[in-house]
Amino acid sequence: MNSRTSQQPNLTKQDSHTTTKCLWRIVLIEDNPADQFIVEQFFDEIGNVDVSTYDDADTAFDHIHDIRKADCILLDNSLPGYDGLECLDEFNKAGNMPPIIMLSGTKDDKVVIETLKNGAKDFLSKDRLTREALERSITNAVSKHQLATELESRNEEARQFASVLSHDLKSPMRVMTLLSEEISSEFAKENFNQERTGLLFEELKTNMFYMRGLIHGLIGYVQSGRQQENFTEVDLSELVKTVIKAISHDEASRKPHIKVAPLPIVNGDQTGLTQVFQNLIDNALKFNESPERQVTISCDEKDYQYSICIQDNGIGIAPEHFEKIFQPLQRLHNQSHSEGTGLGLALVKKIIEQHKWDISVDSEVTIGSSFCINIPKP
Ligand code: ADP
Repeated sequence: MNSRTSQQPNLTKQDSHTTTKCLWRIVLIEDNPADQFIVEQFFDEIGNVDVSTYDDADTAFDHIHDIRKADCILLDNSLPGYDGLECLDEFNKAGNMPPIIMLSGTKDDKVVIETLKNGAKDFLSKDRLTREALERSITNAVSKHQLATELESRNEEARQFASVLSHDLKSPMRVMTLLSEEISSEFAKENFNQERTGLLFEELKTNMFYMRGLIHGLIGYVQSGRQQENFTEVDLSELVKTVIKAISHDEASRKPHIKVAPLPIVNGDQTGLTQVFQNLIDNALKFNESPERQVTISCDEKDYQYSICIQDNGIGIAPEHFEKIFQPLQRLHNQSHSEGTGLGLALVKKIIEQHKWDISVDSEVTIGSSFCINIPKP
């Protein structure tokens, strides 16, 4: 196997913010040196393509984990010991592979149809191969694959969401049904217990408020995905000031210490970003049992991005929950803080992703948490 990058050696997608972006990572599985040379020449002309070439199928199968990271596989239809369909079959069995384009000397329609039926994204004849045809075919295969992967992950998200949602709505409904049955049986009794009935009503009200919060949260969460991206210049210092004012008003009894560093002006959705900072600061105070609740909002500026962190001295989060807390309707149930619906951070993540930014969490139980938003500079 040999690996090289045309024109831009040692280039990976990971360091794209410091160097020219790698266009594609291609795996070429081809035993004929002349054909390898032609294809690699085309990639040289295209530029910024990282090509890893394998001379035989067995070596390629041994490197399946590396190959999975490629954007596209170019597979010779006839390799020593394997024909194209056998190779395709092996890759299909391995699962989660990038799109495969078959390169072949044959023009037999039956072979072409069989190959495409078995999952190849395109079939290119080596005799008529041009740089343009290769480039077009890879562009198509890669973008279709990206769309299919995105669709699959959205479907999975929707499936998960629907199952958690039905559970979360059913449970207060069940409690409310039981409570109303108890209340009506209490009324039917001769020795009607006013105090107990009052308590049952209180509990009914709590569940109703919870349901109302959940439904409002769900509407907000679902609608936030549909909103048109309405980006303007947003002064984050001003935005955070307004959010803190509203919170400080609510929290008059236990005034928290909130320190805010100067924040940048960014291009974003003012309403969405208000929700982001509101939820993060709210959580920093809500999940905090320290006698002096402290929240620090800092900004670390680098050449290529701002990193804004909301740090608290609260109860913290165990590392195994770092991913879970960003999923809709997920709360950490070992806590006594029942307020909330588990939609806050899911909404934050959704809004951050709409901006094409990212968010991460770092935390230590009983010490505190830090939620950082990374904002690439234009
Ligand atoms: P909610 O606040 O409605 O419970 P979120 O989606 O905002 O839902 O948060 C999900 C869970 O993540 C919370 O229930 C809580 O357990 C945990 N969490 C969020 N922020 C913090 C924080 N700053 N400190 C500790 N735990 C947190």
